[in-house]
Amino acid sequence: MKNETWQGWTEAEIASFQGIFLNWYHQEKRNLPWRANTNPYNIWISEIMLQQTRVDTVIAYFYRFMEEFPTIKDLAEADEQKLLKVWEGLGYYSRARNLKVAAQQIMEDFDGEFPETPDEISTLKGIGPYTTGAISSISFGLPEPAIDGNIQRVVSRLFEIDADITKASSRKIFDAATRTILSPEQPGEMNQAFMDLGSSICTPTSPKCELCPIQNFCLAYKNDRQTEFPVKSKKIKPKDVYYLAGAIENSKEEFLLMQRPETGLLAKMWQFPLQEISKEEYEEFQKTWQKEDNDQLTLDLVAEDLSPRIFDEWPVVWQKRHFGEIRHVFSHLRWHVLLFYGRATKNFTVENSRWATQEQFEHFVFPKPQQKLVEQFNKNQKVDKHF
Ligand code: SF4
Repeated sequence: MKNETWQGWTEAEIASFQGIFLNWYHQEKRNLPWRANTNPYNIWISEIMLQQTRVDTVIAYFYRFMEEFPTIKDLAEADEQKLLKVWEGLGYYSRARNLKVAAQQIMEDFDGEFPETPDEISTLKGIGPYTTGAISSISFGLPEPAIDGNIQRVVSRLFEIDADITKASSRKIFDAATRTILSPEQPGEMNQAFMDLGSSICTPTSPKCELCPIQNFCLAYKNDRQTEFPVKSKKIKPKDVYYLAGAIENSKEEFLLMQRPETGLLAKMWQFPLQEISKEEYEEFQKTWQKEDNDQLTLDLVAEDLSPRIFDEWPVVWQKRHFGEIRHVFSHLRWHVLLFYGRATKNFTVENSRWATQEQFEHFVFPKPQQKLVEQFNKNQKVDKHF
């Protein structure tokens, strides 16, 4: 960083900036349930939920979470499947598991009281520098910046900071710039002002500078370079992975669900059986078993020796058309899943599996791709179902 422009601000400029920005925040701040008070438990849960998730979506989850786990102790003692159920649909499930571990840490290491210093807060599982800054400033009034994508966008434009935000080494530059202008009297309010400005006005592609309270201070606005900031090197493309999924039904209208392994992606969650295949095999399946023009999507089954070769070792006959594809993008992976329907020809069980009716699905924690598969199945099932 050649040009540390924030160092050129006078004390009077900083005071003026703080006054104008905080005034705007107090007038315009969004009314959100976790802003009703500064309880660190509320701030913590909301901040973890807000990572990768929109505010509108988080509100309902926040209320439900607080109803189920109103205290740190309740969270520390939470049944994991119940916790994941409350989290279902928010994604990034390790966040929920980390919450429980951190709650246990608070019970054991801090006598059940939320720690009050940034050093202690950052020892809690799943709490990184951003959440440490948010809790320290909002709940304990400490002058700590809470640097996330929003603040990086606003601050990079404000000072024309050309450090690449995808590099860890840029963090200290944004930290230094933000500390210079953070109000020591109202650090929590100012961090929240950045959050609100970044999500409503200083947006990634078309910032609404005409509505911006800090326009007069903004270097990128002055030089008409708003969209050049923040500087971001190209994101690594997620890796494509291909699966066949089987919606396998038995004579009691139950479907086979498999539990994922104890660790790793979507750990311990439930889904239809998945079989990973290559891209070439996937395209072959798509082509061979596609729905033809004028072909009603009936549940006609095919003789075993002609059927799609899926889960070959199981006693299942398959429908002769696939039920379509669902896609799901994780941060590092893109799943392509082709859904088939099959019928068990006799009773069988598989390790880590259960048979469940559709009515019982609500008792299982389904990750997003599985929710999409169930939707896809039901959409097609409505077309026709007869055996
Ligand atoms: S003037 Fe425009 S670019 Fe600058 S902080 Fe405001 S909205 Fe963002």
